[in-house]
Amino acid sequence: MENIYLPKTAKIIGIKDEGLDLKTFTFSFINSEVKEAFSYKPGQFLELSIFGVGEVPISLSSSQIEKGSFQLTIYAIGEVTRSLHKMKVGDVVGIRGPFGNGFPFDEAKGKDILFVGGGIGMAPLRPLIKDMIDNRSDFGHIIILHGARTPRYIIFRDELKEWGKVEGVEVHMTVNRVDGEKWDGEIGLITRLFDKIEINPRNSVAFVCGPLFMIHIVVEDYLLKMGFQEEAIISTLERHMKCGVGHCGHCNVGPKYICIDGPVFTYREMKILPKEF
Ligand SMILES: Cc1cc2nc3c(=O)[nH]c(=O)nc-3n(C[C@H](O)[C@H](O)[C@H](O)COP(=O)(O)OP(=O)(O)OC[C@H]3O[C@@H](n4cnc5c(N)ncnc54)[C@H](O)[C@@H]3O)c2cc1C
Repeated sequence: MENIYLPKTAKIIGIKDEGLDLKTFTFSFINSEVKEAFSYKPGQFLELSIFGVGEVPISLSSSQIEKGSFQLTIYAIGEVTRSLHKMKVGDVVGIRGPFGNGFPFDEAKGKDILFVGGGIGMAPLRPLIKDMIDNRSDFGHIIILHGARTPRYIIFRDELKEWGKVEGVEVHMTVNRVDGEKWDGEIGLITRLFDKIEINPRNSVAFVCGPLFMIHIVVEDYLLKMGFQEEAIISTLERHMKCGVGHCGHCNVGPKYICIDGPVFTYREMKILPKEF
């Protein structure tokens, strides 16, 4: 029987600086059978271990581009993530997963799509955006809103520019403040971007990822008031977790385990979770 706690080894094959303390790492599994068998859905996450340091859950930030290779976009925030940021191409990490449910894709076909990504919240959205753009004719108008702390925290900057050039795709960005950097775009919270868009909430799906306070404001003060259905508002919840497979109970919230029932939830599911959500 397969040991679900045993990580598979993967090598770092690329590192891209995305901004301050933020990097996108490309990994490839070392074992060719593992490489061949690996597949995942946007919205799922992996457990990444740095040997001798620890293990952390991280969302897949790439769409399934090449068999066995994948990307994770990671803030250096604590022990494990800072150790990873010190690693180089060729270094080896441990990987378990993919885990979690992932975003609905087929269900959103034929609809207009609104993405609201605050900060690192763009990481889980990126593979979904790419897949929808690759299957452009299956979806209506696509609007992408991204908010960052300051211009140097804008994530996937080049891709956001490219996505904005695709027919029927609109991209709007804002920053909370400018710290002496060059920026001639919007300044203010992500919610100010709602003044710039037109969307029919009755035939749309909204994907909202970012800090919890942002999710609450965007959903409760904007999307619901605009007329979005609760089940057409999709978000991801983060929670300290350990095993990733519903055994340890660390990510248990009310009747749900974030690792196996989520991390993707509709607002209808989210709103019945205990008050911390
Ligand atoms: C499903 C899921 C997907 C995630 N995807 C990403 C991603 O794509 N990119 C990314 O950079 N991070 C992501 N995270 C968060 C990431 O797991 C944490 O930043 C990481 O565990 C920190 O570990 P560390 O050892 O570096 O820091 P630690 O030393 O453990 O912690 C440093 C600080 O961060 C806080 N912290 C740690 N984990 C969390 C958490 N899960 N939620 C809130 N605060 C936390 C700690 O309380 C502490 O204050 C995700 C988390 C979950 C649950």
